[in-house]
Amino acid sequence: LRGTFCGSLAHADPASEWCLAAVTLGADLELSSKNGTRRLQADAFLHGLMTTALAPDEIVVAAHVPLLPDSARTGFYEFSRRPGDFAVAMALAVIELRKGEITNARLGIGAVEGKPRRLEAVEAFIVGRKPDLALFEEAGRRAAAAVDPMADPVNPAEYRRTLACTVVTRALEKTLT
Ligand SMILES: Cc1cc2nc3c(=O)[nH]c(=O)nc-3n(C[C@H](O)[C@H](O)[C@H](O)COP(=O)(O)OP(=O)(O)OC[C@H]3O[C@@H](n4cnc5c(N)ncnc54)[C@H](O)[C@@H]3O)c2cc1C
Repeated sequence: LRGTFCGSLAHADPASEWCLAAVTLGADLELSSKNGTRRLQADAFLHGLMTTALAPDEIVVAAHVPLLPDSARTGFYEFSRRPGDFAVAMALAVIELRKGEITNARLGIGAVEGKPRRLEAVEAFIVGRKPDLALFEEAGRRAAAAVDPMADPVNPAEYRRTLACTVVTRALEKTLT
């Protein structure tokens, strides 16, 4: 199965890994039509479930993803019912450390709500603290409390809320491995 990065963004599936990465990393998208080109942040581009800011005559021609500093540590964790299935919940974490403390954090959650988004309040909670499992578990609990999970016939909203806690905790843990 193959697809393109910009095609995934235009498709706007809430369970798309590329959409989560674009939002969490602050990708800047270039949209083009016969009338010209405009730029939009991924977060503003994605409106919700399979819905974007694209006008009918526009296509996504480029995605500019800012480089992370060398010191950045990343962690990604995804839960799906079977290997290869669409994610039921996933999280991407990027942290920077100085003198044993988190100085910068980006934390994105996907497949839980209609579109991926950063959890800014949880990011603010972990910045200035020492990274350890207790901190990451509390971050997971805060993430679960912050989301408004969608339900589908197989995965009730409260199940997704529980998974939000798990994927955020594990993505953060992976930043240290
Ligand atoms: C069995 C299966 C499993 C999948 N699992 C996953 C998964 O786990 N995670 C995941 O993220 N995705 C998954 N997908 C979705 C699939 O990977 C995406 O559709 C793909 O990433 C996008 O493919 P594409 O670039 O070929 O775009 P297409 O599939 O050709 O197009 C998708 C939509 O976007 C539009 N489009 C495409 N490119 C552009 C562009 N540049 N500008 C504007 N509009 C555009 C098309 O018109 C169409 O409406 C799965 C799909 C299948 C069939």
